[in-house]
Amino acid sequence: MKKFNFRSFFGFESSATNELNYLKNKAEKSSDSCGGNCSCEDPKDENAIDTGALNKTVNRREALKFIRNTATAGAALASSSFSFGKEEKAERAGIKMDEYFKSNYRLMTDKEREASIERLERLSEIDHGVRPEIKGTKAQPNTLYGYAFNISKCQGYGDCIEACVEENNQDRKTNMQYIRMFEMENGHLDLEEGKADYTHMVPAEGHFYLGTQCFQCANPPCTTVCPVQATWQEPDGIVVIDYDWCVGCRYCEAACPYWARRFNWNEPEVPAKEINKEQHYLGNRLRTKGTMEKCTFCISRTREGLQPACAEACPTGARTFGNILDPDSELNYILKNKKVFRLKEDLGTEPKFWYYMD
Ligand code: SF4
Ligand code: SF4
Repeated sequence: MKKFNFRSFFGFESSATNELNYLKNKAEKSSDSCGGNCSCEDPKDENAIDTGALNKTVNRREALKFIRNTATAGAALASSSFSFGKEEKAERAGIKMDEYFKSNYRLMTDKEREASIERLERLSEIDHGVRPEIKGTKAQPNTLYGYAFNISKCQGYGDCIEACVEENNQDRKTNMQYIRMFEMENGHLDLEEGKADYTHMVPAEGHFYLGTQCFQCANPPCTTVCPVQATWQEPDGIVVIDYDWCVGCRYCEAACPYWARRFNWNEPEVPAKEINKEQHYLGNRLRTKGTMEKCTFCISRTREGLQPACAEACPTGARTFGNILDPDSELNYILKNKKVFRLKEDLGTEPKFWYYMD
C-alpha cells in the first residue's frame, strides 16, 4: 500500500491562534481601504481591481457600445412589425446585447448593477419561464466567513451534496456537484486513496468521511491567474466569479490545489420546477456554457444571515459555518479549542475550512 506523507498533505496545528490572527489582520487591512464591493480603484486595496489591464478592456468595450447602440436602434425599427413571439425574440436579443456590453461587476455603479439584475431576471423568465429574485447583497462589515468540519461526526450520507445542488442550481444533466465526499479507510488520510464515488450503505465499517469543496482560501491562487479578473476575493472572504466576465480559459481550475472549480462544457440544465428562485448575482444564478463555477459558501443565503445549505442539511451536525471575526461564534470556539488541521497547509493558500475530531 502506498505510504502516505502525512505532513505534506495535511498540516496539523496544535493551535489555530496564529492563523486566526493572520486572517483577522488581513480582514482589517481590507476594510481600512474600501470595505465593500464598490468600484474602489485605490491601488492599496487588495480587493480593488487592477485598473491597468481592465481599463483597456473597458475602453475597448466602450468603443463597441457605439456599435451596440446603432444595432439596437436597427433592431427596434425592425421589430415594430413583429408578432408577439418575434417581439420577445427581439427583446431577448436586446437584453443579450446589453448584457454583453456591461462592465465587470466590480466596476459597475449600483445603478448599473440594478439594471443588469433586472435584465437577468427577465432573461430567465424568457428562457426558463421562471422569474427569479437576484440579489446583489454586499459583504457585511466585520465579517470573515469560515467553516469547520467534524470528521468524527460525518457519516457520509451526502445530504449536504444534495442540498448544495438544489440551492445552487447546478447542472442536472452532468450531475455537477461542488461538494465531494471522500470515504477514507481508518488510519489513512490520503485523498488519493479515498473513494468519492461510493454507492453502498453508509457508514461503512472501518471508514470515515471527509467532505471537500471550495475552501475560500485567504491566499487563493485561482484569482491571481485569471487573465480577465473575472474571479476575486470579496471583503467577507468569499471567492466569487463574475460569470458574464469569465472567458472560460480554465486557468483558475488548474491553479486550484483542491479541485474545487467546475466548468460548464455545455449549457447547464435545471428543470424549471427545480430552479431555486432566491439567487445572488455572484452565486447561484443560472450559468451558461463556457463558464466556471464553484461553491461560494452559499452567498445567496449567508449574506442574508442564513446558514449555507450544506450546513443546514447535515443530519449529524458535522458542519459548522460562522464568522471568524465574531469571538462568540461556535466556529471561533472550535478553532480555539479543538485540534484542527487544514488540507495542504504547506502551500500557504490559507483555506478558511478546518477539519477536526472530537
Ligand atoms: S479552494 Fe480552490 S477555488 Fe476555492 S479559493 Fe481556494 S484555490 Fe480558489
Ligand atoms: S475560467 Fe474564467 S474565472 Fe477562471 S481564469 Fe479563466 S476567465 Fe478567469
